[in-house]
Amino acid sequence: QVRVRFAPSPTGFFHIGSARTALFNWLYARHTGGTFILRVEDTDKERNSEAFLNVIYDSMRWLGLNWDEGPHAGGDCGPYRQSERAHIYTEYLEKLRAAGRVYEQDGATWFKISGEPQVIEDAIRGRVERTEEKDFVIIRSDGNPVFHFVNVVDDISMGVTHVIRGEDHLSNTSKHTELFKAFGAPLPTFAHIPLILKQDGPGKMSKRDKGALIEEYQNRGYLPEAVVNFLCLLGWNPKDDSEKMPIAEIIERFDFPGVNQSNARFDERKMAHMNMQYLLEMPPADYLSLAQSYFSRSETHAAVMQAADEAYFAEVIAISQPKVKAIDELPDYTVYFFTEEFPWNDKAIKKVFKKGEPLERLAELRELIAGDLDLNDETGVEEAIKTFAETKGFGFGDYQAVARLAVTGTNAGPGLTQIFRVLGKDKVVSRMGHFLA
Ligand code: GLU
Repeated sequence: QVRVRFAPSPTGFFHIGSARTALFNWLYARHTGGTFILRVEDTDKERNSEAFLNVIYDSMRWLGLNWDEGPHAGGDCGPYRQSERAHIYTEYLEKLRAAGRVYEQDGATWFKISGEPQVIEDAIRGRVERTEEKDFVIIRSDGNPVFHFVNVVDDISMGVTHVIRGEDHLSNTSKHTELFKAFGAPLPTFAHIPLILKQDGPGKMSKRDKGALIEEYQNRGYLPEAVVNFLCLLGWNPKDDSEKMPIAEIIERFDFPGVNQSNARFDERKMAHMNMQYLLEMPPADYLSLAQSYFSRSETHAAVMQAADEAYFAEVIAISQPKVKAIDELPDYTVYFFTEEFPWNDKAIKKVFKKGEPLERLAELRELIAGDLDLNDETGVEEAIKTFAETKGFGFGDYQAVARLAVTGTNAGPGLTQIFRVLGKDKVVSRMGHFLA
């Protein structure tokens, strides 16, 4: 029975690297039908905070990384917070003492190494050998146990079979295997996953880098499925070019041979693109609820939504779905549907006025629309404009740019006839009128 654990220290916000480690553990547990444990490594009282811990819980839940054992989930190996396991550490310390493997010096408790070469067959990196040369402290003089000690004690006492963690821990592993052996415990399988490099330049991605925090994606209305899919590809490679995959397929295909040895590079645009692909595929009703919950989060946007008719709001969102890249772009993208005081895009103005006599064409179009054209019939409207444009020696596009500018203030957006339909004749005609005045 596979037992894996994600063992975060709640000393900072939950970032891409931690989420990816949690995810790979979760995937391996789900792939093998094993158990996924959440263990909180919170022995460092000064650097830990409940707030950070809550962010970890929230982000993991949001990503769908449900844990089988751990805080709130229970399990036979609890408590799952190291701050509550002092009695277990005392018990294990006594075992080492009985085996003659510890001594005190300057008030701290030291572990006596064997000094033998420590060899592991890492499931990702292959054979790794390293020899510890110095005894090391396992209990500080203030009584606090050291990471290496509690980490190994818990892996033993929780029956962890596979230690999947960041490559930055590879250099700690020889200390850990020394301890496992001193306890007479079998070594778990180690799987050290490659680092995530920052988007530009060398170096590991840090919590301070742009786009590093999971919370940020949550706040921006990203889809957790898209974030998870993106994270899977940071260091794992399904061996064909598959990128967008349902989670069930990822679970089925995920295994250590597919994890790269080389470092992964974070790419914010790739993340945004993945998210967009998921957004495009969403059923309109789900997309609408996502948009509603995003608008509700800020007072200004909530007020805009509440002032609008419900069906009208739904229409606006529906025609924007295929066009907008991320949910947090929606308020700006749709601004002209909800106010007459929408902003004017200078570049769009320049572009339109570079060519011919745009105002003349706008005036003609305004007259055409003010007539008996039915704006609910999008195809009909498009045909009518085309035919009309031809009689004047122009194309649809020549009318569209200036019409779009007059009615929306910009040069990008949903289809023009969709905008006409949703805004309705009165607004379209009056906005064109204002522009001409
Ligand atoms: N608390 C350690 C960390 O956050 C866990 C290391 C491990 O997974 O063994 O890096």
